[in-house]
Amino acid sequence: MPTPALKISNLRKVYRRGNVAVDDLSLTVEEGDFFGFLGPNGAGKSTTIHCITGIAEPTSGSIEIFGLDAVKNYREARRLVGLCTQEFNVDPFATGRQIVDWMGGYFGMGRAERKARIDYLMERFELGPHEKKSFRELSGGLKRRVILARALVNDPKLLILDEPTAGVDVELRRVLWRYLQEINGDGRTILLTSHYLEEVERLCRDVAIVNNGKIVRQGTKDEISGGPGGLENAYLAATGAEPDHVAGQ
Ligand code: ADP
Repeated sequence: MPTPALKISNLRKVYRRGNVAVDDLSLTVEEGDFFGFLGPNGAGKSTTIHCITGIAEPTSGSIEIFGLDAVKNYREARRLVGLCTQEFNVDPFATGRQIVDWMGGYFGMGRAERKARIDYLMERFELGPHEKKSFRELSGGLKRRVILARALVNDPKLLILDEPTAGVDVELRRVLWRYLQEINGDGRTILLTSHYLEEVERLCRDVAIVNNGKIVRQGTKDEISGGPGGLENAYLAATGAEPDHVAGQ
């Protein structure tokens, strides 16, 4: 068996005051997969992502990124991951190029290497004409593209996207989908969280649905969305809603 891109085993995260955010969660993402990680607000998705990327420390369990322990080998493991956050955690007065450049510096990339990589990313995401504008001047779709470029500066093998198209209009969402399909087509593994089930239907090969910190359904997208009512009914059933009632059938 090849080494999986991500292997989470029995992950548990208890926040202070005993709040159990993730409870015995196990998940394997194979290299090259486009994996949808779904669940309602508060299900534990962000906490899981935070544990993968070292923002939060697991209470117990293990996380391996291409075989490297995400806690014990944090620096090496983190280098293999690109994180596209949902909220724009950037200096709004910085330009797109600076924002991407700083992340390259964080990963210890030299000046020439950063320049070459950023030139490529600016062209790839059609950001060239906007690269000198401050982040706050950019439209929502361009902001998302800067965040995506920043997540790719270290040429990560695993890209984690936390609701990459939230609040983006239909047309720009399609542009972002095309980019994501190209990135996955280049051989990169993608873990995506999204509330847009249409987005998951369109992009993902495998899906896990999480609720109350536990995986409640997992399989290929085709298996899960194959039943009556498709992915939406499967999602609602898995998360404890009543699909028929909700769908008004
Ligand atoms: P999701 O990303 O699926 O919406 P989260 O991982 O953000 O879910 O949240 C899971 C649970 O953990 C929720 O009950 C949330 O309130 C709680 N939680 C998240 N972050 C913290 C924190 N820093 N401190 C305490 N509780 C938290």
